[in-house]
Amino acid sequence: MPANILLVEDEPAIQELIAVNLTRAGHHVLRVCDAESAQRMIREALPDLVLLDWMLPGMSGVELARRLRQDERTRAIPIIMLTARGEEQDKVAGLETGADDYITKPFSPRELVARIKAVLRRRVPQATEDAVEIAGLKLDPATHRVSAGGQTVALGPTEFRLLHFLMTHPERVHSRTQLLDQVWGDHVFVEERTVDVHIRRLRAALEPTGHERLIQTVRGSGYRFSTLEDGEA
Ligand code: CA
Repeated sequence: MPANILLVEDEPAIQELIAVNLTRAGHHVLRVCDAESAQRMIREALPDLVLLDWMLPGMSGVELARRLRQDERTRAIPIIMLTARGEEQDKVAGLETGADDYITKPFSPRELVARIKAVLRRRVPQATEDAVEIAGLKLDPATHRVSAGGQTVALGPTEFRLLHFLMTHPERVHSRTQLLDQVWGDHVFVEERTVDVHIRRLRAALEPTGHERLIQTVRGSGYRFSTLEDGEA
C-alpha cells in the first residue's frame, strides 16, 4: 500500500530528485517548500510520514518537528530529517526533537527509500505491503485480498483500508476522529457518522465466518479490533 509522504524541502533540485524516486517506489508525494505550508497541509490531512529538511526559509525543520511532536493530533506522525550538516551534535539535536530517523545529504535515493521503508514498517504498519493474519482473518495488501477462515471476503476499498488499519493496530481503542484521520485522511470533509456506516458494512462482510466479533464498539469512545471478549471496562 503506498504511503502519503509530505516532503518539505526548499531546494527545487533536491525536492525533484526525492519526489521522483519516492513516486517510483510507489509512494504518493506531496511537496512543499517551507514549514508554514507543511503545517497547512497537515491541518487538512495527516500524512503517513514527513520528510523534513533541517534548513528552511522561515520556520526551521527542527522547529516544525518539535511542534508536530507537541500536538496530540500530529504526535505520532513519523518524521525523517534531512540535512546537509554531518555534525554529530546536530544529529543528536535532530533526534531530540523527536525525529524517527536522520539522513545526511548527499544521500543515495536507494538509501532514502530503504530508510523510509524501515520507518514505515516500524511506525505505520498499515502503509506496508506485509500481510496480516489474526484469528483466522487474513489481509494481504499486495494482492488486496481478504479471507476469513479460508473463505474469500469481498470488501470495498474503504472497508479494506479500515480493516487494514484496525488489524495493524489491534487491542487499542480508536476514536472516530482518529479513524477518519488514519483511514480517510481528509477528516475535515467527512462526517464522523461515515465511520459507523463503514464499520457496519465491514461487520456485515465478516459475519458469515463470525469474524465480525473482532470489531468491537467501545461505547462513548470508538472502535477496537480485539480477539479478547468484548468486555467494557
Ligand atoms: Ca534547505
